[in-house]
Amino acid sequence: MMTQEHLEDVAEASRWAADKGKVASYIPKLAEADPHQLGVYLMDLQGRGVGAGDWQKRATIQSIVKVAIFLQALADCPLDRLNQKISLNATAGGFNSIVELEERNQHKPLNPFINSGAIASLFLVNGGHGERFERVMELVKSMTAEQRLEVDEDVYLSEKEHGSRNRAIAYFMQSTNIIEGDVEQLLDDYFRLCSLQVDCRDLACIAATLANGGVNPVTRQACALRQHCRTALAVMVSCGMYEQSGEFLVQTGVPAKSGVGGGIMASIPGRMGLGLIGPALNEAGNSSGGIELLARLADELDLSIL
Ligand code: GLN
Repeated sequence: MMTQEHLEDVAEASRWAADKGKVASYIPKLAEADPHQLGVYLMDLQGRGVGAGDWQKRATIQSIVKVAIFLQALADCPLDRLNQKISLNATAGGFNSIVELEERNQHKPLNPFINSGAIASLFLVNGGHGERFERVMELVKSMTAEQRLEVDEDVYLSEKEHGSRNRAIAYFMQSTNIIEGDVEQLLDDYFRLCSLQVDCRDLACIAATLANGGVNPVTRQACALRQHCRTALAVMVSCGMYEQSGEFLVQTGVPAKSGVGGGIMASIPGRMGLGLIGPALNEAGNSSGGIELLARLADELDLSIL
């Protein structure tokens, strides 16, 4: 593990990249985030960790929750049945692409880590309105370090009010029988899950739990099956950074998942989890500072799994 002092230096040396990005504004509340914020936390599989920069500042989890939604869907629905509704392949379109749903892959979402695939995964989680939220929220909670978890009500309401794009995606999927039932209720659970607040240590702990075969390294609680973690990690490798996943894998060699709140979690099987937050994003919707910092750490610590 790196010393805190050195990690501070690496974080500081990466801040220039944050200044090249822009905070997300399509959810108005996210536009209020500080573009200069950048933090990182590393956690090993004994639950020991080190943080640097603004690692204690929280952000909403956004698309990183898609990994937990997918894990819960795998727990509630056999993979072959899930695969009839959602593919496990890379995308060239953006995270909220609609055209791919209409023109490619027989109307099936390409993977569970773009919006269409995450909404379809949430549909496969057991329970009705509110229960699906609870099930996934409990899973996220069990995978974090402090096991306290709150919804940022302002972001949730902002996202719900400005969620036309996700409504378009979800209603389209209803028209093609990928999802059924009450679309607004399903989206309500999705918006709430995207608005869970996490800090870098929480993200690192979720990633370390994945790296540890589903056992939370801090609490020693078994949260997910090893096989399901392996499946989720495989999809993170190919689809975790949206249409930038290929280039990111070449650059860092690590399974990771990003969100438009500026978070990135990276999971190094058998070794550690990393959590980063930097709200300024690049064109693909991935944290600019986070990618720079993660690339430097991957290089220094030889994190590549390839
Ligand atoms: N809540 C966001 C949305 O649905 C999540 C997208 C993301 O983080 N890329 O638009």
